[in-house]
Amino acid sequence: MGIRAILLTTGADKLQRIRSAQGPLDPEAFAEGLLELPPGLPCEELLEVPDILEQPRLRQHDLARAWPELRYLAAHSLTDPRTGLAGMLWLLHDRPHRLDEEARLGFRDFAGLAAGMLADRLELQRVRDSEERMALAIAGSGTGIWDRNARTGEIHYSSDWKALLGYSEHEVGNRIEESYTRVHPDDLAYVQATIQAHFEGRTDAYEVEHRLRCRDGRYKWVCSRGKVVARDETGQPLRMVGTTTDVTAMHALSEKMQQTAALMTDLTNEIPGMVFQYRRQLDGRAAFTYVSSGVREIYGLTPDQLVQDAELLHGILHPDDLALYLGSLESSARDLRPWHLEYRVQLPGSGLSWRQGAARPRPLADGSVLWHGFITDITERKLIEAELQVFATTDSLTQLANRRHFMTQLESELARVQRSQDYGAAILMFDLDHFKSINDRWGHSVGDEALRHFSAILRAQLRRTDAAGRMGGEEFAVVLSNASLDEARTFAERVQRELAGAPVTHGDERLPLAVSAGIATLHPDDPSAEAALSRSDMALYRAKRGGRNRIECH
Ligand code: GH3
Ligand code: MG
Ligand code: MG
Repeated sequence: MGIRAILLTTGADKLQRIRSAQGPLDPEAFAEGLLELPPGLPCEELLEVPDILEQPRLRQHDLARAWPELRYLAAHSLTDPRTGLAGMLWLLHDRPHRLDEEARLGFRDFAGLAAGMLADRLELQRVRDSEERMALAIAGSGTGIWDRNARTGEIHYSSDWKALLGYSEHEVGNRIEESYTRVHPDDLAYVQATIQAHFEGRTDAYEVEHRLRCRDGRYKWVCSRGKVVARDETGQPLRMVGTTTDVTAMHALSEKMQQTAALMTDLTNEIPGMVFQYRRQLDGRAAFTYVSSGVREIYGLTPDQLVQDAELLHGILHPDDLALYLGSLESSARDLRPWHLEYRVQLPGSGLSWRQGAARPRPLADGSVLWHGFITDITERKLIEAELQVFATTDSLTQLANRRHFMTQLESELARVQRSQDYGAAILMFDLDHFKSINDRWGHSVGDEALRHFSAILRAQLRRTDAAGRMGGEEFAVVLSNASLDEARTFAERVQRELAGAPVTHGDERLPLAVSAGIATLHPDDPSAEAALSRSDMALYRAKRGGRNRIECH
């Protein structure tokens, strides 16, 4: 070929590493063994420079510096079909030169061969690199490797494997029988069954957690994973490889978490009422994901029942409160505001009772909403509240509305009069005549008796829409809905008649009980209920002045 030097460089880009040099070229002349490609290279597969003196730029190149006599240069790129440019093959001469056609073809073939060899070497390097990387990754990760001959029962362990259990290199035998003696007796049958299942091809690979005895006699929790990598023609396993990973720390952690979860459950079960987690999907489907055992008292269900079917509540909630319940959850989900609700439930075997729910919603990434909260039994509180309500609105002696409550009833009746033109209502004031003398003569408790007696008469005359109240001492008021002044007068006359016809007696004495009444109507332009009341009061005053046991209208 008429060539003085051959050079092989590798590299995927402009910077090439000198791999081998034949001839007078001094490889040491290249900084760090690297050669930068002359500009314009690699632009094609084969490049030939017949006389470098005619290419001033090349005269400055590394190659010319490494071999000052250099005159001729031919280069062929070596390409790896997988990765592209892999290196260059160089032909050099100290005289101008030119390859003839045959030499060109020969050079091309040679470069092809070199490229193939280079690709193989690169592939080998890649495998070695990845093996090294795996070994590095595994080292110190608490994982050991083993390799088992399924036919002979021989098993080989990596140093990491031995170190995992505290053994040094030569302290572990290579028989499978010995390895089974290190498995905790309680785990052995399960481990062997799992391996057997994989041997028989029932599983793709096997993975089993069990305890292994260390050199010092203590047990470690490990996860053993393995796979048969060779079988004979009948499917019998020949070789199996796998890893053993120390999961003692993970086991300790999961045990701790289990304990924490158990503690949580114990605590929530101790809380009166029901602790829950409830999740609502984007499509509206919803389910309880946790309920504490308090669900038995709250809904008369077991935790499992409610977790399996949240709609069981539809049959337990009071029908009048179900829509409210569902709607309140809906708006809590929409606005992500805390859920608060008092509602009634009907549990089989016990009557109506009250529940209070409170929960905080949290949006999840998938668009669903998760609530954490609790439900308590507020039946007793509701009863007390109802009692307090009665206390706050009724007069204890007569059980009629007290003054304050009567005034609110009167206000709402006035509002009704003001709303509709052809609707009228009347207000009546009653005051027992000479009541002081009854007290004086028969004593206070007989006076009380008389007050209760009169209240009962009043109450008996009321329609469902009317209201009566004790305004103080021996003064009473009545508001008659949808009534004219005349109708009110008739009402008052009836009361007087009843009182006269059913006197209170003490021993064989008859109490001289009579009552005066003043009547007024409610006006649409009354500024307040008080204004209407004072008109009836003025009428009452006239009735007193006119001789008592009388009825006056304003
Ligand atoms: P008149 O015909 O002008 O209304 O005379 P009267 O005696 O009924 O009027 P007065 O306002 O002078 O007296 C009302 C009496 O009602 C005075 C008070 O001792 C009595 N009284 C007020 N509250 C009660 C009560 O709760 N129980 C009893 N037994 N008496 C009461
Ligand atoms: Mg009086
Ligand atoms: Mg009075």
